[in-house]
Amino acid sequence: MSLRAFLNAVILGASLFSSLAMANELKGIRVWPAPEETRVVLDLKDEAVFSYFTLTKPDRLVVDLKQTSLKTKLPVVVKDSAILTKIRNSGAPEKGTYRLVLEMKAGMTPNLFTLAPTPDGHYSHRLVLDLPHGKAALVKKPEPTSKPSVANQQAILPYGSDDIIVAIDPGHGGEDPGSIGPSRLYEKNVTLDISKKVASRINATPGMKAVMTRQGDYFVNLNRRTDLARKERAHLLVSIHADGFHQPQPRGASVWVLNTRRANNEIGRWLEQHEKQSELLGGGDVLSGGSDDQYLSMAVLDLQFSHSQKEGYDVASRVLKEMSKVTTLHKSRPEHASLAVLKSPDIPSLLVETGFITNPTEERLLNSKSHQNKLADAVYRGVLSYFNEKPPEGTLFASRNQGVKHKVASGQSLSVLANRYGTSVAAIKQANNLKSNTLKVGQVLVIPGKAPVTASATTAAVATTTKTVTHTVKRGDFLGKIASQYGVTVASIRRDNNLRSDELAVGQKLRVSTTVPITAPETVARATTTKTVTHTVKRGEFLGKIANQYGVTVASIRRDNTLRTDELAVGQQLKISVKAPASVVHTVQRGDFLGKIATRYGVTVSRLREANQLRSDKLAVGQKLTIPSS
Ligand SMILES: [Zn+2]
Repeated sequence: MSLRAFLNAVILGASLFSSLAMANELKGIRVWPAPEETRVVLDLKDEAVFSYFTLTKPDRLVVDLKQTSLKTKLPVVVKDSAILTKIRNSGAPEKGTYRLVLEMKAGMTPNLFTLAPTPDGHYSHRLVLDLPHGKAALVKKPEPTSKPSVANQQAILPYGSDDIIVAIDPGHGGEDPGSIGPSRLYEKNVTLDISKKVASRINATPGMKAVMTRQGDYFVNLNRRTDLARKERAHLLVSIHADGFHQPQPRGASVWVLNTRRANNEIGRWLEQHEKQSELLGGGDVLSGGSDDQYLSMAVLDLQFSHSQKEGYDVASRVLKEMSKVTTLHKSRPEHASLAVLKSPDIPSLLVETGFITNPTEERLLNSKSHQNKLADAVYRGVLSYFNEKPPEGTLFASRNQGVKHKVASGQSLSVLANRYGTSVAAIKQANNLKSNTLKVGQVLVIPGKAPVTASATTAAVATTTKTVTHTVKRGDFLGKIASQYGVTVASIRRDNNLRSDELAVGQKLRVSTTVPITAPETVARATTTKTVTHTVKRGEFLGKIANQYGVTVASIRRDNTLRTDELAVGQQLKISVKAPASVVHTVQRGDFLGKIATRYGVTVSRLREANQLRSDKLAVGQKLTIPSS
């Protein structure tokens, strides 16, 4: 054998060897941008043998896949990630290795791990690259600052005006599709659709605010979901799912709450299995134990969970009752399971299975917008009924229920008081256990609070004349907000505009029929005066919102307070110089209510409340209200 022949044989042997050994194939690349990290999933024929390193200037992550050939297209250009811009190939460091280069916007420490194929064959071997966004994508949000002390808070807000925070958790997402229907409808998409609808209903309710544990199609591990709820100080966590079974027959909705002892039946155990599988699919860290060991002590669990569990069961029963009006129930009582997403010791939590996606009929329903709306309504009504009855301390809902105390003065009868507080004689008698209509001077009466918020509140018709105005939908508007701005009901806006859905588009024109009194307002000459008020920053407020509320500019607030940054802390006090024609006064007439007066003067109800430091929306006939400048 000549030297050349020998070399050829070696090269042939090497390439023969490498083609035999190059068993693995990179079949696909999927990118899931989430708010805090971007996940890249490499789909491979076989388990990945890999190494990686990072480079700077520009920032890159280099991943070497040993003995792998490419069976997909490169480069991948990434548009919607806060950290990743492009995935391309690069010269191989050695034969058979496939080198991927991920071009980054900033440096970060990646987390790489492999995932085994899913039992259903939906996914093959995967290599996951988690790219934390870090500082590169830090969204400037007001810190979850400590609340002002109770005493301080009471001095400022004697009746409490906090929102009730409801965390809505759309199950699954991204890498984890959840259950899959016979015609390939994914649970992760249904849960997100329904969750968004529930959230928009909650956000349309004054005194309530929804936070979502995920906003789009990406994976969030189960601990992270409850952490988010806790960070937002949620009063309740509602996880939305669609059930799945290996046979098509089972159908119907169910609601699950935590039981610390054991899941109490077959399906409960199956569900737990399902959840574990979800963690495996998504590569979460629940199974690795570690930080949640503290929650595994039964003694701790029993103590901390008992309250949340009891309340969770209460909400669950109400939701289930509402669900029974719109869909078939799988179980008529809340079920118990030991699911990680329900394991917040401090937050009452429930998991709603909206139906079986594996049942062909229910799969169709779950995919229909109208059925999704009905389910969202049911969840919302259940939650609302719970908070109407058991409002958390310090919330607007609680102050609405507290009512006020009134000391009877000479000449005051029950009917005078009922009229003054906009309630009825019967309601006052009931609230005070009065047997007769006789009052004593100096007697202290509890005046019952407002009627609880109902899913479709109606306002008493006191119209003197009806005026139709056109409202152009602005960003951030929703039906409830517009209705409250004009002092009308959501139902009336729906009716006036033949709305089939509650979703509005920016720029959409809505007809709003408002009632206005015929009498002319008592207008006195307008003279502009400047007045400085102190505003205490509340949760969810930002400069633009506050500026808007007082009709001033952001720049003027910055100037008045020599602010160096636009970040506000809850409880922070701001001086606001308001230009106000303080001389416009409205005398409340019979049939007046805040929304009506606001409409008449072209101001918002909240500005009316603010200008008059109203603690309640109850007006008394003859009461004088300062009308803020519009
Ligand atoms: Zn699920």
